[in-house]
Amino acid sequence: MNTIQHFPGFVYQDIRLCRHRDGQPREIRISVAAHGGRGAKCSRCLKPAPCYDRLEQRSWLFIPLWGIVTWFVYAARRVDCPEHGVVIEQVPWSEGKRPVTIAMMCFLSRWARRLWWRETARTFGTSWECVYRSVEWFVEWGLGHRVLAGIKAIGVDENSSSFICWRVLVLLAW
Ligand SMILES: [Zn+2]
Repeated sequence: MNTIQHFPGFVYQDIRLCRHRDGQPREIRISVAAHGGRGAKCSRCLKPAPCYDRLEQRSWLFIPLWGIVTWFVYAARRVDCPEHGVVIEQVPWSEGKRPVTIAMMCFLSRWARRLWWRETARTFGTSWECVYRSVEWFVEWGLGHRVLAGIKAIGVDENSSSFICWRVLVLLAW
């Protein structure tokens, strides 16, 4: 995990395979903890800030390992930022209140370019809405990071009925 998804300031504490009653794998839960020697950062300005308290444990959907639904589990801290007051810390695998890791949103968005969204959801054990939200986030992220220099022409499929599809096509054309 540290090789493929290393988050400075955090450590992987425990990786546990949970099973159904019949012994079949149900889900993998990856517990993350704050690194002992590192402080938290404010999620708004990304500056270090003293810890205020700790919220309840939450789960974020991660990329399925061996086809098994996989979650990151972490109890986020709130920090007391001199500028922004008491806010949640920056959680680097997550954005906003989304219950899906950034890695999983990228993963689903890439597959949603190759498969129907419903098929993508079924293949990776999640919902159509999760795929939809991931593509939506991916498009927003792409639009925010696009580089427009050097574009000479764009192509848009006007027959596409979905606004999001249209935006994806525009993004891909870029
Ligand atoms: Zn701040």
